[in-house]
Amino acid sequence: MRVLAASTLVLCGLAAAACGGTANSERVAAPVAAQPSAAETSAAGAKTLAAAEVRKKPLSGKTIVIDPGHNGGNYKHPKAINRQVNVLTQWKACDTTGTSTNDGYSEAAFTWDVSQRLAKILKSQGADVKLTRKNNTSVGPCITERAAIGNKAGADAAISVHADGSAAANHGFHVIMPKKINGPVDPVVNDSRRLGLAVRDGFKKETGLPYSTYIGSKALSFRNDLGGLNLSTVPKIFVEAGNMRNAGEAAKFQDPAFRQRIAQGLADGVQNYLK
Ligand code: ZN
Repeated sequence: MRVLAASTLVLCGLAAAACGGTANSERVAAPVAAQPSAAETSAAGAKTLAAAEVRKKPLSGKTIVIDPGHNGGNYKHPKAINRQVNVLTQWKACDTTGTSTNDGYSEAAFTWDVSQRLAKILKSQGADVKLTRKNNTSVGPCITERAAIGNKAGADAAISVHADGSAAANHGFHVIMPKKINGPVDPVVNDSRRLGLAVRDGFKKETGLPYSTYIGSKALSFRNDLGGLNLSTVPKIFVEAGNMRNAGEAAKFQDPAFRQRIAQGLADGVQNYLK
């Protein structure tokens, strides 16, 4: 237990913002007025304005980190992405290339596009959105760094976007949530589960895709081998949007209109979790 506390402290030290949290003060201060009635009127007006603002932008004051899985340039840098990193339950490659459809549409391109769409929706709802990578042509970052970005931002929710590469007959989507590992993720395991349930429901409603036929139960899977989850100190999940090696889902993923529905489903889920 003492070892645990120490390791948590070290992580806090590395990502101070995640431990202290970020105060977001968007409150409207009532002006000091000589006339109590004027002050009251002004305060009431400010409250009405603030309430209207909240109604208009439901995610104001919320920070959301989106992690588009993999990176389009990873395959050119095998040495960099194969570097082993400690994810607490094991050592793993810093990152991987991800999968692709049979005709070559890459998972990295898919996650990048969906993440852009998701960011746009969440920003329009007032959220402060951060992505873990800036483009789809470079390498990484490592899975450890992807977790650290969410921690440092003090994210209210973090979501890692992926699609699977399984046997062709397998299909459907699933959500991956963290398990307790006697590590830094433990305090957010319950909130991550709530986030996962909300995102599953939003995704299903918007996309109509079935629950995974081959992983988890009712599209819910709990894992302790993913660095992006094990090292997270903020509520975080992975979404596996479906199987890129399944012909039906591969066709859907290559349709921009369908990717917009995926993004909308994810956004609805995140918003439901945060309200
Ligand atoms: Zn992936």
